[in-house]
Amino acid sequence: MQPLKLYNTLNREKEVFVALNAPHVGLYVCGPTVYNYVHLGNLRTFTSFDILYRYLSHIGYKVRYVRNITDVGHLVGDGDEGEDKIGKMAKLEKLEPMEIVHRYTQDFHHVLQTFNLLPPSIEPSATGHIVEQIETTQNLLNKGIAYESNGSIYFDIETYNKQGGDYGNLSGRILDDLLTETRDLDGVGEKKSPLDFALWKKASTEHIMRWNSPWGEGFPGWHLECTCMSHKYLGNTFDIHGGGMDLKFPHHECEIAQNEACTGQTPVNYWMHANMLTLNGKKMSKSTGNNILPMEIITGENTILSKAFSPSVTRFFMLQAHYRSNLDFTNDAISAAEKGYFRLMEAIDGLKDINASTTSTLSISNWEAACYEAMNDDFNSPILIAQLFEGVRFINLLKDNKESLTQSDLDLFTSLMKGFVFDVLGLEDEKAAGNNNEKLEGVVNML
Ligand code: AMP
Ligand code: ZN
Repeated sequence: MQPLKLYNTLNREKEVFVALNAPHVGLYVCGPTVYNYVHLGNLRTFTSFDILYRYLSHIGYKVRYVRNITDVGHLVGDGDEGEDKIGKMAKLEKLEPMEIVHRYTQDFHHVLQTFNLLPPSIEPSATGHIVEQIETTQNLLNKGIAYESNGSIYFDIETYNKQGGDYGNLSGRILDDLLTETRDLDGVGEKKSPLDFALWKKASTEHIMRWNSPWGEGFPGWHLECTCMSHKYLGNTFDIHGGGMDLKFPHHECEIAQNEACTGQTPVNYWMHANMLTLNGKKMSKSTGNNILPMEIITGENTILSKAFSPSVTRFFMLQAHYRSNLDFTNDAISAAEKGYFRLMEAIDGLKDINASTTSTLSISNWEAACYEAMNDDFNSPILIAQLFEGVRFINLLKDNKESLTQSDLDLFTSLMKGFVFDVLGLEDEKAAGNNNEKLEGVVNML
């Protein structure tokens, strides 16, 4: 059988996965910025990494899965100027920033639980790691790869590159192109180069979220938290770092630069990026309002869908596309997914009615190998689903006594079908679980 291969953004090709310290795997995924409800696009990215986590665990790895909560430092526009997304929402709603953080972190957890995503091993927050972020900033200043300007500290890309760094490598950007593309609005006048990014920002008088530092009151830059928290919990170099495609540049590029400048080592062996979910052909996004909330799908309270769809149907819809493909959300697509999901559940329910025979006329081992090959080929969930429908065809033939399986083959087939559907893909038999009503009510009450 083919070994597990995954697409490494860093080298732009599928590579055989070799864990640094097998059976242990260190996995870091950028979490949400908790200033608003998590939308279906966000959920798709977290579901993609849930499948990766589930599959690695399924094949025997012991994964330390770290997924952070961004609760400070992510500014409107993703650059170094403007309001903090959380601070802005706090002002709008006349609440403490931490009330905003708490509300949307709770929403995030409820949504992920409702859609059956496994919790990470550690879920650190940026505000819980201010000390580490100040230390890292000081470290970079001491090394001469950062500089102070008007109470803010910036990462010096030119110095970093002169010392062997390769800023732009992950996302395939050329520095000269970046320089001509960058509008020099962020930190006007403060930066040596418009490409430099903030490690620590001085807080203006109206900025609410602020901490004492050796450079006066301020707050950390958005990219710094992931460097500090991945380093703290997974070490200088770890196995896999994931996030949505839109985080590749500048967020992940900056993370690499900060880590490498601090430790002199490449922080991550495999960078993985999940593609975007679109609505009306455009990226789903919190800021533009072009989105649908996962909860609006299961309550049916939206203007896009003809009816409500369950969490497992929504999950099944997302898994029918490979994580590196674009996926457009439409009523037709989720309706088709619902039909497929019901066929799969009905077939699994029918497994208990099949009687074993003295001979096997189907090769379960060939089918098993095809299922694993699909997942070993960069977590190809649509191909796995196609194999599971081959399994559905087997079930129907077995029920009609057109094919047969011995008891041991039948047991193997049953456990593989259920293992792939429930453990690896994380689908739930919602009919058997009473349509998930309890979970659903909990979430709807919250809104
Ligand atoms: P945010 O809360 O904006 O920091 O985003 C949380 C995660 O969702 C990040 O990994 C983003 O890349 C991802 N994301 C944002 N929009 C989409 C989308 N339309 N489709 C898929 N993933 C998305
Ligand atoms: Zn991050």
